[in-house]
Formats: sequence, structure tokens, C-alpha cells
Amino acid sequence: MKLNKPSFAKKLTASYLFVVAVTLLITGFYLTHRLKATFLSNVEQSLGAQAQLMRDLLVPVISHPANKQAPHEWAHQLGSRMGCRVTVIRADGAVLGDSERTLDELANMDNHGTRPEIQAALASGTGESLRFSRTLNENMLYVAVPVVLYGSARPWGVLRVALPLTEVHRRLSAFQNDLLKAGVAALGVAFIVAFIVTRRTAQPLMVLAGTAQEIGAGRFPREVALHSKDEFGQLARAFSDMSGRIEEKVKELSQERTQLSAILSALVEGVVAVDHEGRVLFLNPAAEKLFAVSSQDVMGRPVLEVLRHNAFQEVIHETLRHRQPVSHEIAIHSPQERTLMVQALPVSYGEDRTGVLVALQDITELRKLERLRQEFVANVSHELKTPLTAIKGYVETLLDGALEDKAHSREFLKIIEEHSRHLSLLIDDVLDLSAIEARRMEYHFDAVSLADITAKLIKGLAPMAKAKDIKIDNQLSDELPRVRADRAKLAQILMNLIDNAIKFNKAEGHVEISAVADGDHVSISVKDTGVGIAPEALPRVFERFYRADKARSHEIAGTGLGLAIVKHLIEAHQGTVTAQSHPGQGSIFTFTLPRA
Ligand code: ADP
Repeated sequence: MKLNKPSFAKKLTASYLFVVAVTLLITGFYLTHRLKATFLSNVEQSLGAQAQLMRDLLVPVISHPANKQAPHEWAHQLGSRMGCRVTVIRADGAVLGDSERTLDELANMDNHGTRPEIQAALASGTGESLRFSRTLNENMLYVAVPVVLYGSARPWGVLRVALPLTEVHRRLSAFQNDLLKAGVAALGVAFIVAFIVTRRTAQPLMVLAGTAQEIGAGRFPREVALHSKDEFGQLARAFSDMSGRIEEKVKELSQERTQLSAILSALVEGVVAVDHEGRVLFLNPAAEKLFAVSSQDVMGRPVLEVLRHNAFQEVIHETLRHRQPVSHEIAIHSPQERTLMVQALPVSYGEDRTGVLVALQDITELRKLERLRQEFVANVSHELKTPLTAIKGYVETLLDGALEDKAHSREFLKIIEEHSRHLSLLIDDVLDLSAIEARRMEYHFDAVSLADITAKLIKGLAPMAKAKDIKIDNQLSDELPRVRADRAKLAQILMNLIDNAIKFNKAEGHVEISAVADGDHVSISVKDTGVGIAPEALPRVFERFYRADKARSHEIAGTGLGLAIVKHLIEAHQGTVTAQSHPGQGSIFTFTLPRA
């Protein structure tokens, strides 16, 4: 892993260099200062010693002067020999000799009586002064000693020795130069040392920082490449352990997460999780389907915005408000009409936060089935009641005396027989239907010849057809492929359809039975020239107890269950059934069966 240039190492190097530079600077200043003082005091001392020596040489020259210029010549001589300025000054301040001046210039020189070193020498024995010489135009160090002639108590004058400070400065700046060079060298060495030391210190930190970044990025190095025995080594080992443990924990968590999400995805129930602020945290595929939304779009958004179903939101709010489980049956109207059983549980998480976990069970089918069952029971009761009431009525009439009336009693008994037959038919159909719907019906599939079965059925129905003067035209030939069917059930299907075609036909009408092989199916049609079915009634004729023509249903004995049974039976054969009709002209019922 590439790390940015470690600013820590830079800072450390800079700190080292700063400390070294400051130390050097302070030492330099101090040394220069001290050295300057030492230089000056040395020069002062040696000038003092020279002055005293020269004074001894000056006394004879003053006491027995060869001529008037003798002090001046002496000053020149000594000055050039000693390499310094030598000035002879009388006690009244008059300059009698100066090594740096000619005789003519001497005459124009100031009275030196006011010079501090002269006054000090006359007063206390020696005088020193560091100041600018107007005569020579430079800084000079002056040392003056009083000159006392033999046998005299008062000083005759003063001998002054002076050295320009240029020399002192030259030596000092040479020293400063050396010091600067040494400083630069020291800084260079310090830089190299600092570089090495900081690299050594920063290297383990870089390694540890790199490892921490790797862990952060989800890679978990098992070993940190740092093997020192110091604290960094210990830290590295702690890092490796920690990395291993985090990896295990992350694996465990992701495994749990995968399992959980597999379970939630497989659940038929919808699951929705909402946080304490009513924002969607999670939605399983079943819930996505129920609300026709995608998890990605709704995640993190307020439930109010994304799942706009008042009843559902109310359940969530109630749960958030009371922190109690809430369970409600609600109806949603989009994307589909659905009835849902919503169970919401408050779930605590974080610090005093409560979200909601909602389970949604789609009970639309359940409720529909319940409704159908209730309707069915009501319908069956109603259908049973009609013939039973009639039977009861006629039996009572017979018992009340009609039995004696031979002519009527026979008619009444016939009616009673008719209703009993209807009752028995109704009960048979209801039993059949409930057996089919409860999947208790057994099927024995065989390769069956449609022509054979139909021919036998038509024979049985012939008297009924004859009574209405209806002609049955059976077009099924023996060449027709056999179908895979349960013989008895197929007979029941055909019986119902042909029976209807006769029942709902007109006098002198026709019934035509035909079939055609269509791919792996055989398609069979029963066509009549009867009353037909109104278009609005057509889709409902396969419903239980549905009768298209209520007025005629009393005249024509029927249970209203025949076509419902037919549809179930055909579907159990992997076939389909459809009805077409032209009211007043006739109907065609077509069904398919698989080829054997
Ligand atoms: P039903 O016992 O009344 O015949 P079905 O379930 O067999 O009961 O038929 C339901 C209704 O469909 C009938 O009452 C009738 O109104 C209508 N129907 C069925 N077959 C025909 C047909 N061939 N022609 C006209 N109407 C029919």
C-alpha cells in the first residue's frame, strides 16, 4: 500500500533541525560575544603592558630631550616597531608626539586633555577607552598611562597607546566565519542523523498506519510486517491479533447476514423494517412485490413518502407511538386490490431508539375463499330449500285430505317425485363439487375413444331429445386420436354439455358434436341451436349456481352446478373450456383434452 509522504517524519526532522539550529545560533551568539570581550580585554592588557614598557623608555627622552621634536620622533619609532599608534601628551593636553601624524599635522591636533582615557590616566593611573578616532577616522582602543619624571610627584603627561579595532573585528569575523561553517556542517550532520532517526521512528508508524487502512478497507492482514522487539513490535502484534479477530467477527456477521437475508427473501410474508423516525430500513422481495416498489428506491426514505397506504402508515405510527405490538387487517388498493394481515412489532435498538418490524401476510385468497364458502353454503341451503318446501307443501296437502282425491294425489306424488329427483341431483352435484374442490376426486387416466363414449351417451339421451324433437348429430369418427382421460369423468363432462344443449334448445333444434385434433390436443365442440347466452352472462356460466336465464331456470330442471363441475373436471385433465354464443341462435361449448 502506498502511503502519502509521512508528514510525521517531516515534522520530526524539522523539529530536530530547529532544535539544532537554535542551539547553534545561541551558542554562536554567546561565543562571538564572549570572544569579542576576551579579545578586547586581551588587546587591552597587552596594550597596557606595552604602554608601561614604553613609558620607561619615554622618561629619559622627556627628561633629556635631544631637541624639540624628540618625543615625536620617539613616538614614530616606537609606533612602527610595536605596530600600534603611540601618542605622547603633555599634562596640559598638548600632543607632543604621534606615530600616525607628521610634525606639521601635530601642530593642528586638538588638545587631548579632555579625552576620557587621558583624564582617567592622570586621575587614577591608567585609562582605557574604546571610541571613534576623529583623527584616524576609525574605531580605536586606547590605553593611557601617566608619565612621571624622576624626582617629580606630579605626572608630566600621558603616554597613550592605541590599536585600531579593525584588527579585532577581522579576527572576530574570521572566527564567526569558521563558526558559521562549523554550524552549517553541524546542521548537515544533524539533518542526516534526523533523517535516519525519523525514518526509523516513522517507518513502523507508516506500517501500522498502512495496516489500519487495510483493515478499514475490509482486507484483514494476518501479519504486520514489523518484527522489532520494542513497543512498536508489541503494537504490531496487537494489530495482527486485532485484524484476525475483526476478520472472524466480520465473517460471522456477514454469514449471519447472508442467512438472514436468504430467510427473509424466501419468506412468503412481506417484511418491512422502519427506523425510529419512520424511515424504511429494509424491505424483503415479498414486500417489494406487494407494494410494487424496489428496495433501492425506498431505502432510507420516509415510509410516508414511499408506501402511501394510509392504513399501513397508521399501523406503523401506532406502533411507534405506543411501543406495543399492533396487528390489523388492512386493504390496499394499488398496485392491486389486496387484503393484508399486518403485524407490527416495536424493536429497540441503539440508545433508547425504537423502530418497527412489520410482517405482511397476503390474506386476499383466504378471505376470498371464506367469502365463496359462505356464499356456497347460502346458495346450497337456498337450492335445497326450494324442492324441500315444495315436497313439504305437497305432503301436507296430501295428508290434509288430498290423498283421498285419487286424481290429484297421483299428480301431487309425481311432483313430489320430481322434486326429490332434483334434490338428489343437487346433492350429487354438491358432493361432486366439494370432492373436486377438496381434491378428493380420484382419476384413472386411460387412452379413451371419444367416438365410443359419445355414441353411448347419445343413446341414453335419445328419449329426452326425442321429447323436444331435437336432432343430435354426432360427427365424431373412429379415426379421431384417442385422448388421455378418466372414462367416467369424460362421460360426465359430455353428458352435462349435451344435456344443456338439449335442455336450452328450441323445439326441432339441432345438437352437433364435433372434434378436431390440434397438435397434442383434441378439441371437442358441442354446438346447439338453442336460446343462447347473453354476452354479459357468458363469462359467468362456469360459476357455481349461476343461471343465465333466471326466469326459465324454474321450468328447466337444473342445479346450476353442471358447468362448474365440467370446468373443474376438464382442468383436472389439463384441458381448457370456453363458451361462445349468439343469443337467440345457439351456443358452442368447446373443450380440449390432451392426446393419449
Ligand atoms: P343447469 O343445471 O342450470 O344447467 P349449468 O351449470 O349446466 O346449470 O349451466 C348454468 C347456466 O348456463 C344455465 O342455467 C344456463 O342459463 C346456461 N347454459 C348452459 N348451457 C347452455 C346452453 N347450451 N345454451 C344456453 N344456455 C346455457
